[in-house]
Amino acid sequence: MLFRDFAEFCSTIEKISSTLELAARVSVVMKKLSDDDLYNFTLFLMGRVFPTWDERDLGVGIGMIYEALEDVSGIKKERIEDYVRELGDLGLAAEKVLKNKKISTLASEELTIKRIRETFNEIAELSGEGSRKKKTLLLTGLFTSASPIEARYLVRIILKEMRLGVGEGIIRDAIARAFNVPVELVERAYMVTNDLGKVAVIAKNNGKSGLESVKIEPHIPVKMMLAQNAESAKEAVEEIGEVAVEWKFDGSRIQVHYANGKVTIYSRRLENVTNAIPEIAEAVKKNVEDGVILDGEVIAVKDGKPMPFQQVLRRFRRKHDISKMMEKISLQVYFFDILYKDGELINLPLKERRKILEKVVSENEIVKIADQVVTKDPEKVEEIFKASIDAGHEGVMIKDPNSLYIPGRRGKHWLKLKTVMETLDLAVVGGEWGEGKRSKWFSSFELACKDPITEKLLRVGKVATGFTDEDLEELTELFKPLIIRQIGKRVDFVPKYVFEVAYQEIQKSPKYESGFALRFPRFVRLRDDKSVEEIDTVDRIDQLFARQVT
Ligand code: AMP
Repeated sequence: MLFRDFAEFCSTIEKISSTLELAARVSVVMKKLSDDDLYNFTLFLMGRVFPTWDERDLGVGIGMIYEALEDVSGIKKERIEDYVRELGDLGLAAEKVLKNKKISTLASEELTIKRIRETFNEIAELSGEGSRKKKTLLLTGLFTSASPIEARYLVRIILKEMRLGVGEGIIRDAIARAFNVPVELVERAYMVTNDLGKVAVIAKNNGKSGLESVKIEPHIPVKMMLAQNAESAKEAVEEIGEVAVEWKFDGSRIQVHYANGKVTIYSRRLENVTNAIPEIAEAVKKNVEDGVILDGEVIAVKDGKPMPFQQVLRRFRRKHDISKMMEKISLQVYFFDILYKDGELINLPLKERRKILEKVVSENEIVKIADQVVTKDPEKVEEIFKASIDAGHEGVMIKDPNSLYIPGRRGKHWLKLKTVMETLDLAVVGGEWGEGKRSKWFSSFELACKDPITEKLLRVGKVATGFTDEDLEELTELFKPLIIRQIGKRVDFVPKYVFEVAYQEIQKSPKYESGFALRFPRFVRLRDDKSVEEIDTVDRIDQLFARQVT
């Protein structure tokens, strides 16, 4: 596929807001593509270069894009920044740069999706000294061959922000439509492979039976099963009957793959965190049988007591000086489920999986199995709840012992009982530099929820309280590389991180695209175990609003 065709296709669908029509248009193109093109088309359209769990990353910052554009056009960075201010997006600015370029290049070869893929792979391979320069050169090579409209989408893919409103849901529907397969099967295959490009190719070549035979494989993450809120122990027991009760540990979810002598650990957002928590990987090798995928919660402990959950995330983020961090924050993992043992186990009931879990894991200081009590008595559940809170954890998980493991599903088979109040998980899309002693840091952040269908981000307000100076310093470091544009003190970020935010009240407001605003919003914590796809929807805000008024 020519990249020109891809870019033109993107620009025609940019104006479409009907999700049905978007899926239909995408499906028409999908049908015509070869395997490789189909794979890349699917990912690029969602603004992805690699599946989210893939360790590879382009590692291309905004600075490199500016340099490459400057090299190819002879237009100075300051000028390009003016374009960004005027047009509101670096993609459109790149388009304008190529239209106005001062250097004329010899007729170069036309870009194809294949060439872009190869160059991206090459860029992702580069690391260490001199890699920045080489990456910029490769980018310059792409921009040299690109037409203005191609530059627009090239930049947007690199920044992972296509602005097309084509999210996972639309791609899933498009695959089903293009290859005439049930949407549920596409969804299931996606939950198990976490790679819609791969799912599209399987649907194309092997249709329904191909999708049905997609199986879990070690070292490829599976979407995690999620829980719903329970109002009370009594209600949970009424709902499920006999229940399996475990502590709800206040840590962070991990999925541990141990097969062929190798351990890979994924966070809840399916990022590979193996290198950040090496003591867990080592302990698993010693205490767990090879050939398994386990589900559990990693917690930080000090003097036998759990530390706040933020400490675990601090460990996840850490790329350097890991051993120093290990001395400060020690970890334990509590396994509560098993998805694979020399083959898939997700279609066995929890009580059977639990037996296998107990066989394959032997406990030690670091590796534990979550205690589980099976009961029909709500009072017993309450008792376990109290013990969990006393031990510094969050409450209990109440599970149906007969339930299968359903990847990615937030269902009634797992219920969580907690004491804390309702908060919102929102994407951070912008911010503002502070004043006075805080002028080096961002002092407020703009928040967005999502439209559940189009997955577009809709602003709901700003948060400026609840931060310590330490938080602001750390958050500034985290957000600085994500700046896409700056006007005065205001900046826009590539949406990557999620804040958990408390508030006093939700109000209707025409000021923000969501139609709602938060009164007295307060930062609770950075949820970097959650991805932007998992933030709260405008529908949930609407429900919370309705509950307030009644
Ligand atoms: P929440 O993040 O509030 O939706 O609660 C669900 C999360 O609780 C899971 O994703 C796990 O990270 C965590 N959790 C802690 N203990 C358990 C447990 N025993 N079983 C399942 N999930 C648990």
